[in-house]
Parts: sequence; structure tokens; C-alpha cells
Amino acid sequence: MARILTDPFGRRIEYVRVSVTDRCNLRCSYCLPRDFTDFEEPESWLTFDEIERVVSAFVRLGVGRVRLTGGEPLVRRDLPVLAGRLACLPGIEDLSLSTNAVLLGHQVNALYAAGVRRVNVSLDTLRPERFAQITGADHFDRTLDGLLAAKRTGFAPIKINMVALKGVNDDEFEDMAAFCLEHGFTLRLIETMPMGEPGRSAARHYLDLQEVRQRLEKRFTLVEDLVPGGGPARYVRVAGTDLRIGFITPISRHFCATCNRVRLAVDGTLYLCLGQDDSYALRPLLRAGADDAAIENAIIEALARKPERHEFREKPRQTIRFMSATGG
Ligand code: SAM
Repeated sequence: MARILTDPFGRRIEYVRVSVTDRCNLRCSYCLPRDFTDFEEPESWLTFDEIERVVSAFVRLGVGRVRLTGGEPLVRRDLPVLAGRLACLPGIEDLSLSTNAVLLGHQVNALYAAGVRRVNVSLDTLRPERFAQITGADHFDRTLDGLLAAKRTGFAPIKINMVALKGVNDDEFEDMAAFCLEHGFTLRLIETMPMGEPGRSAARHYLDLQEVRQRLEKRFTLVEDLVPGGGPARYVRVAGTDLRIGFITPISRHFCATCNRVRLAVDGTLYLCLGQDDSYALRPLLRAGADDAAIENAIIEALARKPERHEFREKPRQTIRFMSATGG
């Protein structure tokens, strides 16, 4: 009989986000400082064998959904090889990828062949100059090429993650919606979170997505929509079209009561909550030759530490690590 992993608050944990690197080829203003170089050294990175062992343990515990993320996952060499190994684990129901798409154009075929079918792409603007300002890199064309290559290859659904930033990209929601409608993408708007120093300084650009929704309602007729698979976004559909828009509102309306996930960082730390420091170091166990049962027990023990909720509003200075280090 399939096992079910639950936390102390009765939430079923069915989803693990696996960060394969904390490095990134972009420096988004709200995520990573421009001059940051203090990344994990390769000897701390979980190897593909170690990642596969941890994911296998999760799968045996009933977790069928895995997302590869980072940092930027495509900067980790041979990512499609890892994807292929995870995709064929018995019990994996869904293997997806979060990427900024800068390197996606070269890897779409290998990733698709490996079994990845769903991809989320971060894209905060459709304007090349603004893209360079936000990300610190002149990679707009490569990003767009990667995104469109994913569409041609047949990835579906493709979701665009756009962090809403007052005074930065808040004149583009309608344009981004039109772009997503044209290409058959889902749009997800995200409130900026106070993670690390960059996240906290981006708080001055914070936008309550309830306001954005009201603004979009002036342009489009929005109807409530339920998207299977859970997740933090509340979705609407633009009436008369296939366009879905999701609102991810960790600050204005948190969704912790339905949290179903944990995050494995590249150094083998299991983070139980994006906005809290509760964690469990799996790497020492893996490198000490722990058997499969010991890894499963460690995951169960770790789950007992999962906090009820983040406190981004009440304690905005609490989370020191960057989003890129956690596998956002
Ligand atoms: N590099 C991949 C990507 O671009 O999707 C995966 C990692 S990235 C850290 C995951 C997501 O976190 C991106 O959509 C990014 O915009 C978002 N993010 C990073 N810092 C954030 C913050 N402080 N608040 C809200 N979202 C943030």
C-alpha cells in the first residue's frame, strides 16, 4: 500500500523541489546581489547518485511530484542526465523544471527526451532593456528563444512566473497577459518576498496582487478557475479564452494551510519552509553510508520540524538565505 507523508499539522507532503545548484547566470535584483560569489563549493554539492537516492526515498514515502530548480538548474552540467534518471524511478508521477530559460534553447530536446514535460519560466518583462536592468544581464533574446523552443518542442503547460514590482514592471501586466494568450502560456504573478537582503530591499517595490487583479478586471473579464495539482496560485481564466492567470500571494494572503512541499538544497539540506530556517542536513547521512531505511527515517524525522507557516509579514528580517539558495 502506498505510504503517505504528513507533517504535524496534518498536511500531506507530496511534492519535493530539488535545487541542483545555488549558482545562477542572472542576478535578479530581488533575488541575488550583483557581486555575490559565495556559492557552495562542488564538494558540497549532492552528486546525481545522492540526489537520486534522496528522491527515491521520497518516492517510496509516497511523494510523486518533483521539480528541478536552483539557482538556475540548467547551469548544472548534464542536467538532462539527472532528469532521465529521476523520470524513470517507479512512482514518479510528475517531473518538472523551473528555469530562467537563458540556456533552455540548447537543452529542450534532451530534457524532453529525458521525460520532463512541464516547465515554468521566469520572465518579469518583455522589454529587453528592462530585462537587463532587472536581471543584470543582457540575455532577453536568449530567454525568449529558449521559451519559444520549449513551446515548439511540446512542453505543456508552460507557465510564466512574473514577479510583480511596483515602479519596475507594473505597467506590463496587460502586455504579459496578451503575450501569454498569444502563445498559450499560463501567467503567474508573484508577490515579492523578503528573502535575504535583495528580497528585503525589493520590499519597496512590493505590490499587493489583489490590486493587480482589480486592475486586470478593468481590461479582461476574469472567472474563477480551479487548476488541478494544487500549488500556491489562485487561478482565474480570462473569459472566452484559454488564458489562465495565477496569483501567488505569500504576503497579502498566505497559503500555508495547503502547503504540500519541502525543498532539497544543493548541499543536501532539506528546508521545511521557504520562509523559516527549520532544516535537516541529509548530506552527512548520505556520505556516512546510511542505508535506504535510515534516509527514509531521516525524512520522516525532518517532516516533524515543518513549521505551520512562514512569517514574512511579521518578521521580514528573519530569512537570511537567498531564494536561489533554497530552491524557490
Ligand atoms: N532560476 C530558476 C527560475 O528562474 O525559475 C529557478 C530558481 S528562481 C530562485 C525561482 C523563482 O523565484 C523565480 O521565478 C524568481 O523570480 C523567484 N524569486 C526569487 N527571489 C524572489 C523574491 N525575493 N520574491 C519573490 N520571488 C522570488
